[in-house]
Amino acid sequence: MRIGIGYDIHPLVTGRLLVIGGVTIPFDRGLAGHSDADVLSHAIADAILGALGQGDLGHHFPDTDPRYRGISSLRILEHIAALAERAGEELVNIDTVVIAEAPRLSPHLAAMRTALAKVLGLADDRINVKAKTHEGVGALGRGEGIAAQAICLIQRRSR
Ligand code: MG
Repeated sequence: MRIGIGYDIHPLVTGRLLVIGGVTIPFDRGLAGHSDADVLSHAIADAILGALGQGDLGHHFPDTDPRYRGISSLRILEHIAALAERAGEELVNIDTVVIAEAPRLSPHLAAMRTALAKVLGLADDRINVKAKTHEGVGALGRGEGIAAQAICLIQRRSR
């Protein structure tokens, strides 16, 4: 078995949709970025790549590449899951934390889990999404951005 960690942060700005874990969440601001800036999907992608020993998301999906402008990060996760499959590895489980002062994410966690599990080809109970505020501390606490952490365990596929 091998394990990988992922972390991501994006600034909150006006005029963008807020997409977290593949779910569009009603809010007056969204995350800025080259893709849909889905901070949770990006953290998960980096955790999987870390477990595979295959670098990071920026290496596989450079933000200088116009093909990835506005891309749904669920497509990125599909691609990363296919990399794992090709490497003969299966995803065992993924745990995550989203750190957002606002909006309240708890009503959306189940939908995020379902969307992520589907795109990664996992049973829902193999992926967990938790949300925390930053207790008003620092830039995240002032709501200047949203961050996410993920950890992923993989194992060699038995045949
Ligand atoms: Mg990102």
